[in-house]
Amino acid sequence: MTSTKSSTKQKLADPRPKITEEDGHYLVVGGQCSECDYSMITAPPLCPRCGNSTMKEETFGPKGKVFSSTVMHFSLEGRKGPTTLAYIDLEQGPRLLVHINNFSEDYGPPPGSIVTIVGQTEQGDPAVIVSKSSTNENSNA
Ligand SMILES: [Zn+2]
Repeated sequence: MTSTKSSTKQKLADPRPKITEEDGHYLVVGGQCSECDYSMITAPPLCPRCGNSTMKEETFGPKGKVFSSTVMHFSLEGRKGPTTLAYIDLEQGPRLLVHINNFSEDYGPPPGSIVTIVGQTEQGDPAVIVSKSSTNENSNA
């Protein structure tokens, strides 16, 4: 009996978003439901919110706002620590986990900070910088 298994290892799908460049701006290529406008960094065949099957390709960014962030004080595969990670909410779009390339090594950018997608890293992640750090001046009122 011969095996029908392929000799090549099945490659897992890369969950990171695709980045495209339009007029000098870097945008995330995602999907949006044409029925309920739900936005995602992928375009699945069915909308997870309303079940509609007419997802269309949409681009988001280049700006976003920090939802939360953290600094990991250890090295990851291909990256020397510390590494700043943040969830960002893209303009008119979905939430995305990114590496922040230009912030303090001690703490991440505060929630509300404005970030900009500036391309793609060598590792294939969205390259994101903080363009305006939020302060907590107004939260002590
Ligand atoms: Zn929908």
